[in-house]
Amino acid sequence: MPDSTMPSPPPDAPRGLALLGATGSIGTQTLDVVRLFPDAFDVRALTCGANVERLADQVREFRPARVAVGSEEKARELRALLPDVDVAIGVGEEGLCDAATGPDVDVVMAAVVGFAGLAPVLAALRAEKTVALANKETLVVAGRLVQDVLARHDDAHLLPVDSEHSAIFQCLAGEAERSVEEVVLTASGGPFRARPADTFGEITVEEALDHPNWSMGAKITIDSATMMNKGLEVIEARWLFDLGVDQIQVLVHPQSIVHSMVAFTDGAVKAQLGIPDMKVPIQYALSFPARWAAPHERLDWTELTRLDFERPDTDKFPCLRLAFDALDAGGTAPAVLNAANEAAVELFLDEKIPFLDIPRLIERTLGRTTTGEASSLDALSTADRAARRSVKELAAAPSN
Ligand code: NAD
Ligand code: MG
Repeated sequence: MPDSTMPSPPPDAPRGLALLGATGSIGTQTLDVVRLFPDAFDVRALTCGANVERLADQVREFRPARVAVGSEEKARELRALLPDVDVAIGVGEEGLCDAATGPDVDVVMAAVVGFAGLAPVLAALRAEKTVALANKETLVVAGRLVQDVLARHDDAHLLPVDSEHSAIFQCLAGEAERSVEEVVLTASGGPFRARPADTFGEITVEEALDHPNWSMGAKITIDSATMMNKGLEVIEARWLFDLGVDQIQVLVHPQSIVHSMVAFTDGAVKAQLGIPDMKVPIQYALSFPARWAAPHERLDWTELTRLDFERPDTDKFPCLRLAFDALDAGGTAPAVLNAANEAAVELFLDEKIPFLDIPRLIERTLGRTTTGEASSLDALSTADRAARRSVKELAAAPSN
């Protein structure tokens, strides 16, 4: 038996890696995986929104040819931090797309948070790259568009990074598409699973940021507290695996050990299990179809005294219902849901609205928006901007 606790180098020549969102939770964990397999990757591009101090350290360590940052001001700050380093600095959406499509890039880790991550993913797929997708908002907003682009570009590939979707992907290995009956997405239930609903009015930002099982960026942590994260993941699963809405079930599983399951037409069920550690699905997306031996923490079966499963409470967590409704409505409705959620979460993090206003503002925005065709990035951007405006207006209205 090989020693599975030691990293074993993968056999292939190094692949050119563009890491979008390098300074975030997924970005930094991706670089942890790259450090385990230094011969497997050449880091060709790194990007961030605003954290140029961390990006400068990463540039010194990984020496990419190109970086991108969120604004001209951040570009100047980064240049001042790297006076002696030869690196091209791009800005904004154009900078992100250039980073994702360079001729020396084979694989793109898409780990920007939110709608801002969509354009570079589309650009990378059109440039026939392999995209490891952490940015679930891409498929929520533009699932149909991404599917169309993939259908037109044979050498473009999309691999899931989200732990539930990686679990499903692993369960599907070697299976025929038609033998899938349903997928079961597991949800931790977040920090408020057991908290009485009549106290939700007093939830503070600090409480909502305190996730029981996973350490993640602020936006996805709030999404987990409202369970919008699971709603976004339902839509993500619909497009990644070409499933009907009725083939996707959500179960709350507080231990976060079973990362998701697939039930087959013959009654068999496969599940993928492990310690909650994003480095495992990140690495699988980068090593696929191989598995590379690595010292990630192992499950201790003797400490696993129980695995609980329960149906989610959509009265307590209406965001989950709103996401299923938006998926049913189709067109631009999921883009509106996503933008309204991003805007509401930002207001909550800034302590401008209470926790319970997040689902309320999303529902009211969906209610006053006509669903359109989701046929182009322009149409989706327009829907996105209108929904963000709506949330701001509704939040500022005295009657809110
Ligand atoms: P994060 O907030 O920790 O990091 C986000 C990264 O994107 C940072 O590098 C930031 O600088 C950059 N960024 C933010 N706004 C930007 C903009 N407008 N333009 C360019 N860059 C911008 O977020 P995260 O937790 O790493 O999550 C990243 C994505 O992965 C999200 O879509 C999230 O839903 C998904 N995801 C995260 C986890 C996790 O464990 N963190 C798990 C599953 C899926
Ligand atoms: Mg997930």
